Amino acid sequence: MTDTYARLVNHGLGRDLARKLGLPQPADLRRYRPGQPLIDGPVLVRGSGPGADRIAAALLSWGLDVRRHAVPKERLGGIVLVLDALEAPGDLEQPVLAAAPSLRDLAPGGRVVTVSRVPGGTPATAAARQGVDGLLRSLAKELRAGATGNGIVLAEDVSPTAPSALGALRFFLSGRSAFVDGQFIRVSSAEGRLPDDADAPLAGKVAVVTGAARGIGAAIARTLHRDGATVVAVDVPAAGDHLAEVANGIHGTALQLDITRDDAGQRIIDHAVHRHGRLDVVVHNAGITRDKLLVNMDQSRWGSVINVNIAAQLRINEALLASEHFRSEPRIVSVASTSGIAGNRGQTNYAASKGGVMGMVRATAPLLAQHGGSINAVAPGFIETEMTARIPFATREIARRLNSLQQGGLPGDVAEAISFLAGDSAGGISGEVLRVCGQNLVGA
Ligand code: NAD
Repeated sequence: MTDTYARLVNHGLGRDLARKLGLPQPADLRRYRPGQPLIDGPVLVRGSGPGADRIAAALLSWGLDVRRHAVPKERLGGIVLVLDALEAPGDLEQPVLAAAPSLRDLAPGGRVVTVSRVPGGTPATAAARQGVDGLLRSLAKELRAGATGNGIVLAEDVSPTAPSALGALRFFLSGRSAFVDGQFIRVSSAEGRLPDDADAPLAGKVAVVTGAARGIGAAIARTLHRDGATVVAVDVPAAGDHLAEVANGIHGTALQLDITRDDAGQRIIDHAVHRHGRLDVVVHNAGITRDKLLVNMDQSRWGSVINVNIAAQLRINEALLASEHFRSEPRIVSVASTSGIAGNRGQTNYAASKGGVMGMVRATAPLLAQHGGSINAVAPGFIETEMTARIPFATREIARRLNSLQQGGLPGDVAEAISFLAGDSAGGISGEVLRVCGQNLVGA
């Protein structure tokens, strides 16, 4: 599970050799630790118009060191490029080229965040807004030393300082988004609110995490607990010992349950309500792979993957939506996969199930909106887990390096994105898919 190559090429002789040969040298990523500053160094806010002024004022109110003009050679923690008033492609030139020289001053682990609007309006306006997509994704590929570039896309009537616009900005600037690169988060409404305590955004919430006995699920359970939630850890009875260990370690409770059971949804609701008095968040993380080329695929491999990875989620969601205990700003976060976006050889069944998760999330968003709720998916790329440790060495090495950050993500990176989407500061974000993949270079 360890990235031996990254250690070799970042120390002593290995580092010198890698430099000479031009080999990838994956940087240590700036990851979140409670209590640490949101970002290391001043944040430069560029862009014209009231949007940039309001965002700069919000960052100042968080105690950040904010610049509206570049100070020569000053090390920057981040650059926020506010492009919310574009009307034609020509409008990109001035703000983008004015901010460009400051990229040289971006600190290792620095952040670039664009703020723009959903493509719409006249053809020229739509062209300008869609242009931000290509611009940001290319820029993210040019950044080095663990720096990342991501964007916030506002719906037409959403203010740049709406709670979830600021929530997303905070997520992108912080170490919580270390392995999120070249991605956009769309804010579709002014719902949501920023937490009183940024280090405990889930305080008072009860969250269920499926597949929590190990891997990414265990990391999600621990991260939600760290962020203030009471956690119900769910996994199959065969994983009972590991499950109990995870649950006990975070003062939560364990629920041994196969999520493909018909009554799984009701069992989850009953457990959360009887043991903890409420249910606020459900994280659908449990998932399996049964890889085979389609030409050799059998019914058992196909059926089990579809059943665990998407059919079970649909059945559980039906029970949640029907329950009076899941009506107070409920949040669902599902784990998809970049395989469901770009496809992966040998994974037709898995990619169909994970594509299914994304479709399900989009279609369920309006149903949860009735109760002030939200549902989103996180699509991990290559994450260092027991599952990926089993991939043969050469294939694993290639898969690990083929992203802008030249390394695999950690289970905690996926967990951070899930914790963000489970919180009230993401209440205006729904029906979205956020990739946590270091900007995979293959496929979509
Ligand atoms: P993992 O195999 O280590 O853990 C999955 C957990 O789910 C296990 O504890 C397992 O017992 C549990 N589970 C399986 N079937 C279940 C069922 N029917 N009921 C209850 N629990 C069940 O996998 P992981 O690598 O931690 O992956 C977690 C999620 O992330 C999965 O949905 C996976 O598809 C997704 N994902 C992983 C990666 C990666 O690189 N590891 C990449 C993309 C997506």
